[in-house]
Amino acid sequence: MKSVVGVVGAGTMGAGIAQVAAVAGHPVLIADAVPGAAARAVGAIRDKVEAQVARGRLSADPGALRLTAVESVAGLAGCAVVIEAVVEDLAVKRSLFAELEAAVAAGALLASNTSSLSPTALGAGLAHPERLVGLHFFNPVPAMRLVEVIPGLATAPAVADAAADLATAWGKTVVRSTATPGFIVNRIARPYYAEAWRLHEEHACVPQNIDAVLTGAGGFRMGPFALMDLIGHDVNEAVTRSVWAAFGYDPRFAPALAQRALVEAGWLGRKSGRGIYPGDGAPAPVPAPAAAAPEAVVEHLAGSGGASPLRAFLDRAGVAAVCGDRDDSEAGLADGLVELPSGALLVQTEGVTATSLSAAFERPVIVIDRVLDPAAATAVAIAASDGCPPGALAEAVGLLQAARLEVYVIEDTPALIVARTVAMLANLAADALACRVASEPDIDTAMRLGVNYPLGPLAWARQWGIGTVLRLLDSLENWYRDGHYRASPLLRRAALAQRGPSGGESLLPRQGTATPER
Ligand code: NAD
Repeated sequence: MKSVVGVVGAGTMGAGIAQVAAVAGHPVLIADAVPGAAARAVGAIRDKVEAQVARGRLSADPGALRLTAVESVAGLAGCAVVIEAVVEDLAVKRSLFAELEAAVAAGALLASNTSSLSPTALGAGLAHPERLVGLHFFNPVPAMRLVEVIPGLATAPAVADAAADLATAWGKTVVRSTATPGFIVNRIARPYYAEAWRLHEEHACVPQNIDAVLTGAGGFRMGPFALMDLIGHDVNEAVTRSVWAAFGYDPRFAPALAQRALVEAGWLGRKSGRGIYPGDGAPAPVPAPAAAAPEAVVEHLAGSGGASPLRAFLDRAGVAAVCGDRDDSEAGLADGLVELPSGALLVQTEGVTATSLSAAFERPVIVIDRVLDPAAATAVAIAASDGCPPGALAEAVGLLQAARLEVYVIEDTPALIVARTVAMLANLAADALACRVASEPDIDTAMRLGVNYPLGPLAWARQWGIGTVLRLLDSLENWYRDGHYRASPLLRRAALAQRGPSGGESLLPRQGTATPER
């Protein structure tokens, strides 16, 4: 007989958690402050499970689910575990936990599905705070595999372990986080939205092009604007604000004025009929018009002697490349580049604007964004230096179109779209790792499963090179000079020590004489 699980709050998350626990074979009791809400949730869960069984997605007997609505917290007395998913309000949750503590047996585990409150603060008023743990599920709970387990300062290790075992038994993948703002996912994911807003506020290009580049070149499942329209700008901005405030208004987490305006207008996204996009959805992205590919280009090798970073695109385009011998390492370029027939240079971004490079090289420069996988990318962003002749830009566009890429020409902005976004995701991931918020594998797992990133940000940084990520960040910080892009000291330290390129070695320095772990 499996333990009895109680769920308080029969809304989106509570119903999802109750469903997962019931399908895993637990007797589940659901309570909600609104009379009748728990009973409605029980009916809705049964309907959902039945529909899934009918579609062959689940093999369960909907009739065998042991779900019961109870009308008060006192009705949860027999539960071995109670998970709360009520409104996100510290005072409400604390008074609920006080009631629960009085109702359940001494050995019962209490868990909170809070996404932004500290489990330390939630447990502070309890007689036995050691029995309370954060258990953060993702929406929709039945479909999302990730669960963050977050012990507060007073949480007993055995309680965190028991919560982790329970979520694992329910088919979830567990990661462990310290009780720090945003835990893992809501902290590290901020730049996915913030960088899109920065580009939007600078009018680098229209939002649907940013979405098209992050999906087609970055391999992200959904563009940031489409995603925020789905989540709701009120919800998304509230998370940003809470993380920003919790980090003492660190400019790395600052919310966007443009998003504030959407919230003020009530343009909250799909749920309110319009968000950044009109109610009928995102307009089609606007790639560059068709241009002719150059017949041949000159490929200048990287400083290390290897092929230029554009080799995969040259292969895909079938454009002949003569080998050149420029050495641009002194001009600050570590990687190779391509010289177009007009004499203009095509350079993969290392974080410096096309116009800055053009001043250094005394000729037009077109900078190309980074991509997740050059063999699989379907889109790419490029930016031309100020004054670049249209013919030179057309050569670059034609070359990349011949490689079967949708080409998005954006304003000349440092580290374009994918490169700046991934560099900042990796930056915050490195900072979280440095603060021991979570282990390196847990950070990457959390971002892959919690927000569906194609690659964990730390694995991505290793793939591009820690030095590359650091160069991107330093160039961005040098350009904006507002602290937003300041690099994590851990990245700088790892780059100096050349840690990171091999898969196995931790980015963290080996523990030597430093303070031992708590
Ligand atoms: P929701 O508004 O859909 O549901 C909340 C439910 O709690 C409502 O049915 C409400 O009647 C009930 N409730 C409120 N106060 C109560 C009380 N004192 N006692 C009993 N019931 C009470 O909210 P949600 O989206 O399911 O979020 C619930 C929790 O989960 C919040 O802490 C939220 O931060 C967290 N969370 C939400 C998401 C998400 O995507 N929605 C994801 C992860 C975590």
